[in-house]
Amino acid sequence: MSEGSRIGDASQNSGARPSIVVMKFGGTSVQDAAAINRTISIVKGRRDRGLRPVVVVSAMAKVTDQLLAAAAAAAANDCAGAMAISQQLRERHLETAAQLVGRNIASVAKVLHEKFDKLDDILRGIHAVGELTPRTNDLVVSYGERLSSRIVAHAFEYRGLSCAHVDARSCIVTDNHYGKAAPQPEAIEARLLEHVLPLVEARAIPIMGGFIGSTAEGITTTLGRGGSDYTAALVGGGLHAGAIEIWTDVDGIMTTDPRICPDALRVKTISFAEAAELAYFGAKVLHPATILPAVQKDIPVWVLNSHNPGNEGTKITALAPMSTSPLKSIAAKKKLTIVYVVSCSMLMSHGYLKAVFEVFDKYHCPIDMVSTSEVTVSVTVESTEKLPEICAELSAFAEVTMEGHMALVCLVGDDIRGRKGIAARVFAAVRDINVRMISQGANGINLSFMIEEADVDEAIRLLHAEFFAEPDAAVFDVEARAVLA
Ligand code: ADP
Ligand code: ASP
Ligand code: MG
Repeated sequence: MSEGSRIGDASQNSGARPSIVVMKFGGTSVQDAAAINRTISIVKGRRDRGLRPVVVVSAMAKVTDQLLAAAAAAAANDCAGAMAISQQLRERHLETAAQLVGRNIASVAKVLHEKFDKLDDILRGIHAVGELTPRTNDLVVSYGERLSSRIVAHAFEYRGLSCAHVDARSCIVTDNHYGKAAPQPEAIEARLLEHVLPLVEARAIPIMGGFIGSTAEGITTTLGRGGSDYTAALVGGGLHAGAIEIWTDVDGIMTTDPRICPDALRVKTISFAEAAELAYFGAKVLHPATILPAVQKDIPVWVLNSHNPGNEGTKITALAPMSTSPLKSIAAKKKLTIVYVVSCSMLMSHGYLKAVFEVFDKYHCPIDMVSTSEVTVSVTVESTEKLPEICAELSAFAEVTMEGHMALVCLVGDDIRGRKGIAARVFAAVRDINVRMISQGANGINLSFMIEEADVDEAIRLLHAEFFAEPDAAVFDVEARAVLA
């Protein structure tokens, strides 16, 4: 990947600031002192090449899960359990900071202790009232990114890099949909121009936590799990950056999750539309909403490996490259429920679909897949939280049954709809697995089907063997497989 092409891409955007590169580092890229030092070297490399980095970091690996567990324990009358988790986190953060900033630890430790003391107060408060609201849950979980970004900023400073910590909550303005707040791009752009751009212009590297935001009134919110990618895209979009880099623990977007299929190959270039489908349908490597702010501003997004920074990663661009391979990647989304809605009283009558969808809409319950017959509508949903209410309302005009532990397998590729024989190959490959629902044709690039969760890994391995045995070297990193072999 040459700097020339990176800067060239950026200059296509009107009003672009091609030298700004937003670099997001996920949990494993800041999980300990060694990882943070690698991260600093990567950012320094970009800066030394004349680029102007803006850094977005996740919480240290596993910290978000632990904060959620601490909040849940406090609410469940287990104050000691909550405090034990907090104490463990305090020690981990202090130890990491000490390894990074050596003799400067006193001032950093002071900041960290203040934050943990406040966190403990909040956890005790949750225990005292015996209730955990979504708003308080967001406040607790926000500490992950608030702590990691502080440590990373101090480490940059200690390594002699001019930087400035930015509290992401001062820039990422959202609504008050706690747990999955919707960002407000115009307000965010205005705040970024006010708080972040002047730092960049003064040659300081802004460092902020991902995932967190605040309402216009200043109440802390979060963007949903995996949301630091989204922050990076919002910051890139708001600053009209030249590129957004998502640094993670794999070489890029792969032909499938390498944890399921170790011979997955890196995809060299993928279109925005394909990447968005993959992200939405379960490829954890990117947050589902990441792509939009970048697409709107035509900003290239790269997915790169902080453990292997020399690898050129995956470039996400407006148009898909021409490929002889029908598929780019296979994703899977587990923990879904199928809801079957049957209504004989609606036979031949119009308005049935509308009536069904209105109920899901009323409870803000997103639907992933739909299939219909004359009197039946089957839908799949991820969140089961509101299903009792939804089923109760649907029961007024239909019979409702559900099946849990389901998974959606999603195949993505350029023009799946327009190529012959793909469905035959897909369903021949998974012939021994029971397929519950099928969807194809909603757009040209996705074929999805529902199976039981327990069958997912096998289905993915069978499909991967079927479609990636002879990959197109122009699109996939075929040499890496040769090295593996
Ligand atoms: P980060 O903490 O850096 O945000 P994530 O854990 O959210 O990282 O995402 C990276 C992980 O996504 C990888 O370790 C990999 O197991 C998983 N993954 C799932 N599908 C894919 C895919 N198609 N390509 C690459 N990684 C994938
Ligand atoms: N720390 C958050 C999470 O674990 C956000 C992120 O890592 O992107 O979901
Ligand atoms: Mg992630």
